[in-house]
Amino acid sequence: MQEHRYAIIGAGPSGLAAARALQKAGIAFDGYEASRGVGGLWDIENPRSTMYESAHLISSRTTTQFAEFPMDGAPDYPSHRVLIEYFRDYAARFGLDARFRFDTKVTRLERTDDGGWMLHADGAVAQRYAGVILANGTLAEPNIPVFPGEFTGELLHTSAYKRATQLTGKRVLIIGAGNSGCDIAVDAVHHAASVDMSVRRGYYFVPRYLFGRPSDTLNQGKPLPARLKQLVDTRVLRAFTGDPVRFGFPKPDYRIYESHPIVNTLILNHLGQGDLRIRPDVDRFDGTTVHFRDGSSGEYDTVLLATGYTLDYPFVDRAELNWTSWSPELFLNVFPPSFNGLYVMGMIEASGIGWQGRYEQAELIAEYLAALERDPARAEELRRRVADDPWPDLTGGYRYLGLERMSYYVNKDAYRAAVRSAVASLREAPGPAVRDAAPRRRAKARA
Ligand SMILES: Cc1cc2nc3c(=O)[nH]c(=O)nc-3n(C[C@H](O)[C@H](O)[C@H](O)COP(=O)(O)OP(=O)(O)OC[C@H]3O[C@@H](n4cnc5c(N)ncnc54)[C@H](O)[C@@H]3O)c2cc1C
Repeated sequence: MQEHRYAIIGAGPSGLAAARALQKAGIAFDGYEASRGVGGLWDIENPRSTMYESAHLISSRTTTQFAEFPMDGAPDYPSHRVLIEYFRDYAARFGLDARFRFDTKVTRLERTDDGGWMLHADGAVAQRYAGVILANGTLAEPNIPVFPGEFTGELLHTSAYKRATQLTGKRVLIIGAGNSGCDIAVDAVHHAASVDMSVRRGYYFVPRYLFGRPSDTLNQGKPLPARLKQLVDTRVLRAFTGDPVRFGFPKPDYRIYESHPIVNTLILNHLGQGDLRIRPDVDRFDGTTVHFRDGSSGEYDTVLLATGYTLDYPFVDRAELNWTSWSPELFLNVFPPSFNGLYVMGMIEASGIGWQGRYEQAELIAEYLAALERDPARAEELRRRVADDPWPDLTGGYRYLGLERMSYYVNKDAYRAAVRSAVASLREAPGPAVRDAAPRRRAKARA
């Protein structure tokens, strides 16, 4: 009989969470990491890292940290330098480093005739596993939109942005105002000759602190119904940050939390000081001129695309992950419906899900693998439910925008409840937990 040994691809927060959960469940595994060590994109020296020098945690440490390894004594919003040390300490504390092969990039996964997976990696590694956990990150492959015309200045994606001095003396246009775009704009105003920001839609800006506390630590516990939370938080934001339309942003054509909120109010300060300007959506490039949709134009040395990332699992056929349009369609964003022995970690975007939310995904995988070995009927019951029953609604009642980056977005409370329910159903005698989840296969995104 083949040994039930599993592989984990990636030693970022998700891969470490998977390693820890499998370790606790007594499941044998080997980890593979393309970079020199643990920490994923929080290691700015990792060639695939999209971190920049000024980056800090956007969510606060208490809502983000692993529950069994609190970041005691750290600031509320630590910098990436503090965070990489945190992950190194986490791996050292639980002896996880020794379980990974570093500087070893996985290049290919192929099914074996006996239902396992052959993993090919750098250095002519070829090893058979019963299953593979994919934790290779979601924020590494740049999403580069195509614009009409040609820009002859410097065209960069945020993935290539490391420090503000890259922009010294330049006339900079940042396209997109997500969290990275806003962080970089705030950096750029101190170095660039001028900074403009082109936006397609309005945004909601959440301050880091509300009532003297990290804003994401308020209203924890029992979540408010979506519409009530939208109403309350819109009012609170209006009172604290004012109306972004006053600073030149378009009025959002959606409600708060229907897209990822921007945790940055410095951007509004700089707009108020006249340090940067908001421009409309880009119409076309022409040499170093950028024409905007309202007929205006500007001259730029550097265009910085803050246009996000695209999911990428280049080492495995797309059909194996049940790709639909922008993203794989997976039960709880983890299990391909075919239950083919691949498990995806970290393919979640959510406000406030943190690394503990990723760890809970890992616990679910570990619980399923343990059931496969020790109580196959329970694993079979989960597979039956996934095939026959409606999938849980992970939106929490929010109507997410129909955008690529929102295609695997979840509401943290709805998601964690659904994961807990699936874990409970694997631990206990098959019960109604998963079946009772809201009747929706996948929440419809808004067009
Ligand atoms: C500027 C910035 C700020 C952020 N702030 C927050 C925040 O405040 N809160 C929050 O929760 N999240 C934040 N994030 C999101 C961040 O993605 C997660 O915190 C976390 O890093 C995700 O972990 P991961 O392990 O899934 O992916 P990653 O950290 O990307 O790790 C993936 C790992 O897989 C490795 N790998 C990739 N391909 C292969 C291969 N073929 N073979 C072997 N190894 C491979 C990579 O080298 C990497 O080490 C932020 C991201 C950025 C860029």
